Amino acid sequence: DICIDGEEQFIFRSNYSSVSIPEHVTLPEFVLADAEAYADKVAVVEASTGKSYTYREVVRETSRFAKALRSLGLRKGTVVVVALPNVVLYPVVALGVMAAGGVFSGVNPLAMQAEIAKQVKDSEAKFIVADKLAHDKVKDLGVPVILIGGDQVEGAVAWDHLLQATDRAGSSHHEEKVSPGDLCALPYSSGTTGCSKGVMLTHRNLVANLCSTLSCCGEEMVGQVTTLGLVPLFHIYGITGICCATLRSKGKVVVMERFELRAFLHALISHDVDFAPIVPAIMLAMVKSPITNEFALDKLKLKSVMTAAAPLAPELRTAFEAKFPGVQVQEAYGLTEHSCITLTHGDPRKGHGIAKKNSVGFILPNIEVKFVDPNTGRSLPKNTPGEVCVRSQCVMKGYYKNKEETEMTLDQQGWLHTGDVGYIDDDGDLFIVDRMKELIKYKGFQVAPAELEAILLCHPAVEDAAVFSLPDEEAGEIPAACVVMGRDAKESEDDIMGYVASSVSTYKRVRTLHFVDSIPKSASGKIMRRVLRDNMINKNKKH
Ligand code: AMP
Repeated sequence: DICIDGEEQFIFRSNYSSVSIPEHVTLPEFVLADAEAYADKVAVVEASTGKSYTYREVVRETSRFAKALRSLGLRKGTVVVVALPNVVLYPVVALGVMAAGGVFSGVNPLAMQAEIAKQVKDSEAKFIVADKLAHDKVKDLGVPVILIGGDQVEGAVAWDHLLQATDRAGSSHHEEKVSPGDLCALPYSSGTTGCSKGVMLTHRNLVANLCSTLSCCGEEMVGQVTTLGLVPLFHIYGITGICCATLRSKGKVVVMERFELRAFLHALISHDVDFAPIVPAIMLAMVKSPITNEFALDKLKLKSVMTAAAPLAPELRTAFEAKFPGVQVQEAYGLTEHSCITLTHGDPRKGHGIAKKNSVGFILPNIEVKFVDPNTGRSLPKNTPGEVCVRSQCVMKGYYKNKEETEMTLDQQGWLHTGDVGYIDDDGDLFIVDRMKELIKYKGFQVAPAELEAILLCHPAVEDAAVFSLPDEEAGEIPAACVVMGRDAKESEDDIMGYVASSVSTYKRVRTLHFVDSIPKSASGKIMRRVLRDNMINKNKKH
């Protein structure tokens, strides 16, 4: 504990030794360092088709794509929105954008057109990379499209065509020096309040996060392992925590487009996967579904699974360990605004012992954490829950073009206020016990209540609306709504839920909706989501 301005500050640091962060590298340089020594090794393979890229090919294609982007006019800081599922080319696309000096902004390719359009507009993207399926949604946004896996079509340039044309033209384009402090990624997150915002991350942010994570995890997670790349690569957990971490260690990533239990178990067995980063909803399916029994689980080479993105119920963990004996379960906690992983169960041999089962893990090297009383703003001692605040080189630069929300989230001393509530115990284990922020996590996917409320309020019969989360065994949390209808309204609850469903991605759908007379609000006009949530939970208990 240290004293600042006469006030006692409780600041907690990692028990792992600090790691040095290379000063002068960009993320692609860091990730692909030493690739020549592994030139013929497969770096990425697509589970459904077997298409693969060796390290030689990843390096070559990343550099060709970076050149191609510059030939199209990309300058340092230009945003490129990527609307692709987890395909074999994904790492090349993301690293190519960054190597060229651009800013990679992944979007869910299954999102509705309006959702993708919003991100393209907000990020001021100058290029979009899409596959054939997403092309229809992006072709009319007035932004040039680079099409993967398709022929040249009007308004889009095909990937192969673009790269070949660039090869023919030679390297006449002026190269701007890319520095570690430059932006390289702009993932979208709703943060503590409001709608999705671009999270500005630099090369240094992401390199620092990888250095911290890799230094305290064991070989079975971050050695030259085969990792399952199922978590969406448009999410920072997918692209850096899984893909870049594995490529840095010269392992192999088996990418999968979507979760389907049979294909998932088949991929684990047929690709001899060592390490599978997943979310609790997938662990639940592995444990509960009878499909799992169709597989010869003794053929699994799986050494470790990591769950992150949402709380893991201790009962689920115990059931998993019984069904998959010998597979280590590691938990991790992180957030987009902190470049991904922040706390994790590291390798017990790295000096911090074994994390407790229901903890989210230990503080990663180089990271400071404090727990703040939201009422007084004071930091709290051990074993006392407060808002988790984090300070490190991994903290985002801020929200893109959103000073107000940046100032609410990052304070003057560089602390990132996470909106999560937790505490640290005597052994350095951290526990996340609650969430103060509005964010709903459906199967690990972010759902912003403000976005759904805005849609509800567009319905002519809706006078007021509030969206909040309800606990759910399968999804972790589901979006629920209370709605005040106009006096003459004829619509049913299902009609209103259908209305929302028609304009959002599947995971954002309102799953339960009730008509109410009024929405409880605080004196300052804030929706009292917690009251609505607690009322609904109590009501459901009674039924
Ligand atoms: P995202 O930016 O999409 O990764 O979401 C980050 C948020 O997910 C965090 O602020 C937490 O609310 C939640 N979260 C992430 N990991 C965990 C975990 N292991 N346990 C509980 N909540 C988590």
